[in-house]
Amino acid sequence: MDIKDTRGIKDTRGITNRGEYDVVVVGGGIAGVAAAVAAARGGANTIIIEKTVAFGGLATIGLISWYEPLCDHLGTQMTAGIPEELLKLSIAYGFDTLADDWKNGKRPELGKNCKYATFYSPSIFMMALDEYLEGNGVSIRVDTLATFPVMEDTVCRGVVVESVSGREFFGAKVVIDATGDASVMHRAGVPCVVGENYFSSMAQGFTYEAAKKYVEKKDANTMSIWMKAGSNMNGVGQQGHKMYRGDDAEEVTEFLLKTRRATFEKIKDTDRNERDISRLPMMPTFRTIRHIIGEYEFSGNDENVRFKDTVGSCGDFRKKGKHYHIPYSCMYNKGFGNLLAAGRIVCCDREGWEITRVIPVAALTGEAAGTAAAIAACENKAVCEIDIEKLQSTLSANGVLFVD
Ligand SMILES: Cc1cc2nc3c(=O)[nH]c(=O)nc-3n(C[C@H](O)[C@H](O)[C@H](O)COP(=O)(O)OP(=O)(O)OC[C@H]3O[C@@H](n4cnc5c(N)ncnc54)[C@H](O)[C@@H]3O)c2cc1C
Repeated sequence: MDIKDTRGIKDTRGITNRGEYDVVVVGGGIAGVAAAVAAARGGANTIIIEKTVAFGGLATIGLISWYEPLCDHLGTQMTAGIPEELLKLSIAYGFDTLADDWKNGKRPELGKNCKYATFYSPSIFMMALDEYLEGNGVSIRVDTLATFPVMEDTVCRGVVVESVSGREFFGAKVVIDATGDASVMHRAGVPCVVGENYFSSMAQGFTYEAAKKYVEKKDANTMSIWMKAGSNMNGVGQQGHKMYRGDDAEEVTEFLLKTRRATFEKIKDTDRNERDISRLPMMPTFRTIRHIIGEYEFSGNDENVRFKDTVGSCGDFRKKGKHYHIPYSCMYNKGFGNLLAAGRIVCCDREGWEITRVIPVAALTGEAAGTAAAIAACENKAVCEIDIEKLQSTLSANGVLFVD
């Protein structure tokens, strides 16, 4: 057979029906975890489906281990609810670098430059997330790739997955896309925008010097040394490399191999007895792959705007004193009544993408998506037709902040 000719290839395997859920969350990164927990707490029968073997996405498997601030860097807490629960969970069983001013419910004086942010152990956070999901009554599937949404016109009946059990179907009243690349909504036909990414590689390891410091200080954070190559988030170090989109399998493979090689080359000539690499990212570390085109494009120019459909407030991890609200309407496209976006795939412009893609804001949109999905599923409504005041009062009762 000509390898370019796929006409003779037919996949005739059956599909096992795994039943109907109120809410199916695809993707178990921070946004997916927040969404699943919020939906389950809202009374929805919820399952989370993750293609890798563990939860946390970039924030664990991707080795990101700095939880960006829940505050405006000047003493005002902007974000709480599940994003704050997750920050606390990330350090509950491992080291932290949280400022004393933000520990045990304390607050710094207003105007003091002090971030409510912390380093954490990605591996320990990963294990804590299992317990968190199970403890909140979420059904779990790992090592299971959602391959496509089953569409009847513009309504999603559920998702087909591939796992060691073969091909399976999970029916849903509402599907939340928390894949980090909007692959569910893209395949459902929701219009999307593709991003661009610098060549950047990282790994975590330890050195003899770091180990000595750890023994002196007994501070596990000092043991982990970052080994980085390529560009930083502003393109410094990008010279000589191409930009990557992240929505093409060949390109993703090239990125993974080349970034890993860059790390490898960096350590080859160092003394092999004086260092080790303990963790490598197990997913491509792209910042912005694809986001949906929703009803509203959240923008960096939306500073101090309180939207009618706000689902919570946040700061800007890069700048002091910035106050934003995130509108619900950047999380869905009206043409698709039972699909919601959460995390780094919500509708936004370039600056808006920077603000929404980090861990605390991904958790914020995750909590909002899960809460909205539970309401929509329980009331048999389209996600764009739910009562916004009910959504906001539920979020507020669950500790979400709306700070102007
Ligand atoms: C290099 C880099 C540095 C960063 N630094 C920081 C930082 O210091 N602090 C910070 O707060 N943020 C940082 N970020 C951003 C932040 O980590 C992420 O944007 C955020 O964690 C995204 O969460 P998410 O849940 O939206 O997506 P992801 O973390 O991408 O999670 C998506 C999940 O969906 C799963 N998935 C995808 N497709 C499927 C499918 N078809 N079926 C089943 N599962 C699927 C994936 O395996 C993954 O687990 C950084 C990002 C990068 C790339």
